[in-house]
Amino acid sequence: MIDPIDPVESTSFLRHAQTSAENSARFPDLHPPLDRQTAIAEANRCLFCFDAPCAQACPTHIDVPRFIKKIVSGNLAGSARTILDANILGASCSRACPVQVLCEGACVMHRYNQQPIQIGRLQRYAMDAFQAGGAPLPFQPAAEAGKSAALIGAGPASLACAAELRRQGIRAVLFDARPLPGGLNTYGVAEYKLPLVESLREIDLLARLGVEFHFNVEVDAARLAMLEREHDAIFLGIGLGAIHALGLPNETLPGVLSALDLIAGYKSGSITSAPARVAVIGAGNTAIDAAIAAVRLGAAEVTIVYRRAPDQMSAFSFEYEHAHREGVRFLWNLQPAAIVGQDHVEAVELTPYESTGQPMTLPTDLLVLSIGQASHAGFLKDIQLDRGRIVIDRFTRQTSNPKFFAGGDCTNGGREVVDAVAEGKRAGIAMAAWLGGRQPVAKEPAHA
Ligand SMILES: Cc1cc2nc3c(=O)[nH]c(=O)nc-3n(C[C@H](O)[C@H](O)[C@H](O)COP(=O)(O)OP(=O)(O)OC[C@H]3O[C@@H](n4cnc5c(N)ncnc54)[C@H](O)[C@@H]3O)c2cc1C
Ligand code: SF4
Repeated sequence: MIDPIDPVESTSFLRHAQTSAENSARFPDLHPPLDRQTAIAEANRCLFCFDAPCAQACPTHIDVPRFIKKIVSGNLAGSARTILDANILGASCSRACPVQVLCEGACVMHRYNQQPIQIGRLQRYAMDAFQAGGAPLPFQPAAEAGKSAALIGAGPASLACAAELRRQGIRAVLFDARPLPGGLNTYGVAEYKLPLVESLREIDLLARLGVEFHFNVEVDAARLAMLEREHDAIFLGIGLGAIHALGLPNETLPGVLSALDLIAGYKSGSITSAPARVAVIGAGNTAIDAAIAAVRLGAAEVTIVYRRAPDQMSAFSFEYEHAHREGVRFLWNLQPAAIVGQDHVEAVELTPYESTGQPMTLPTDLLVLSIGQASHAGFLKDIQLDRGRIVIDRFTRQTSNPKFFAGGDCTNGGREVVDAVAEGKRAGIAMAAWLGGRQPVAKEPAHA
């Protein structure tokens, strides 16, 4: 479904991915869009709080009451501008954000025992209208400042950094190992939240700011040294790497797959079905996404195996409930002891973990591993790492080499899209200040 793009500049990504009718049918919107009447009624419920806690809870500090007020007055372009001013990936965040634990979780309506304002769906309403109108982003790059930055990775962190650099007239050249931009926004976030095409639609707009992209380029130590010589500054937005291995024999048998490969595979169209029995190891949000994907791809029996108790899993409770509704079964306090099979996985043997209980054999046709992502920052020779994470200064966003800035999963260890956007934006602001000979503090400028 995806044609690889040559490692050259490109300004239209959507044409490289056709909407898959099958994917749209299998993974319908988890939170369908609001119609005009419902959106206006919902917007009118907002109290337009002063010092709004919802805006404080948003890592990018979108002025939530302001964009909602503009929906009430019918100024959807203004509403979108308010969102985009704070968060250049406001469209994808409106779909992907775990709003229950961010803006909506902080909404004052909870104090009055009322449902929180549906901020995510209102944000999507404004952003959908903006995109349907076909207008460019409501700001232009500043006059060229004569400086250039290379950004490693084209995920949310680098995209947000690049947008900020272009707004301040700095050349932004992105390099990504993948054939398409967006990082996990394109290849990881569940299709029923953020379809691949929607991630690309948003980046098409951003590209018009003059951001340059090079794809299918894996940056290693040698290339990084070259980029360091060619550019005035570097941004590291490399995210995290592959899923950890279990360390068991037979882990490379056909039928053993990482959750990231399963999700990227179905999103990009190379995986179109799942076998009857699927076992997923791990109970984080990625494991839940993989298990739900397996159900939707046709598996009859999907089991999540977790070595600890339910209250210790890292998945959000609403994600866990979603998996339950999809019919996913959970096995607790068990860990894999052996992978069974000759030419293909046939079963996984499970033993109790830190508890008494019975070992068991779980027959499976597909074993999906989802026990956390490893760091892949090892090629950064002179940059300080802490347990694989790139260490940055909280204020200047610089690494141990002041020419290198960083943000997103590779620095925070793996959070949400909106955190990566916020960190990329702040790094862009700090980098622009540093390149302009000022103190590189990530203080947000008032854009005209
Ligand atoms: C399966 C999954 C589902 C998720 N679902 C959600 C969700 O629903 N909502 C949410 O808010 N968050 C979700 N997240 C988290 C979110 O996707 C990440 O926090 C966010 O994408 C991090 O952005 P980033 O730019 O730091 O890294 P990434 O998105 O990982 O982007 C990094 C990019 O760098 C490239 N790269 C890495 N190394 C190199 C190199 N050496 N050379 C060239 N390119 C390189 C990679 O190819 C990649 O494109 C999910 C994460 C996963 C794993
Ligand atoms: S906290 Fe709730 S009611 Fe107050 S401004 Fe935010 S969305 Fe509106």
